[in-house]
Amino acid sequence: METVVAATRNKHKIEEIGEITGKFGMHIISRDDAGVPPVEIPETGTTFEENSYIKACEIMKLCGQITVADDSGLVVDCLDGAPGVYSARFAGFEGLWPENGEGIDTDDGDNNAKLIRLIRDVPYEDRTARFVSVITMVYPDGKTIVARGTVEGHLILEERGENGFGYDPLFVPEGYDQTFGQLGQDIKNAISHRARALQILHEKLLEERPEKDCE
Ligand code: IMP
Repeated sequence: METVVAATRNKHKIEEIGEITGKFGMHIISRDDAGVPPVEIPETGTTFEENSYIKACEIMKLCGQITVADDSGLVVDCLDGAPGVYSARFAGFEGLWPENGEGIDTDDGDNNAKLIRLIRDVPYEDRTARFVSVITMVYPDGKTIVARGTVEGHLILEERGENGFGYDPLFVPEGYDQTFGQLGQDIKNAISHRARALQILHEKLLEERPEKDCE
């Protein structure tokens, strides 16, 4: 069985991606289990595609095996697309964008408070946003598969719901009147940006390896 190394340490994401790769005879393991040293890969890209590729490529170089990485975030239209690739670090700098592109991950509550402050005076109909997830699979021979998923929605001005993480308590997906924080994992997993990206990864792997799909 072929092994795929996950560039993330997030168990939940490894399971989600592993469900898809497993259908194609690929067994997923974490970067730690692959013996990759605990180095941090700086996310120096300015797009989700760049960061997802950087993470997959750097880990692939360290382990020499097929590697999969994901990069995700929230894109807010009335903020010119911020926080975007800086979603995890949003509260760590002033204004919409960091000066040097760097920074460390900040607390979800602080990130949400900053977002609310910046969109407070914008009417609901203009508070449109989307979550984006880009999953990249890099092979040792350089072949690359990229899958991008999005989910559209609106932002509210107070946190609602205890489920999920990050900006979930502020994000009301299109077609619903509750936030991802209120809707719960089952609905989120069915319609989320990551679910969509995984579905596209599945379709692309199916094109590559039709005989291996067991569904
Ligand atoms: P990462 O790609 O997992 O590092 O996610 C980047 C950041 O984007 C997270 O820290 C969250 O702030 C935000 N984000 C990504 N996906 C989600 C989601 O599904 N719900 C809420 N926030 C998310």
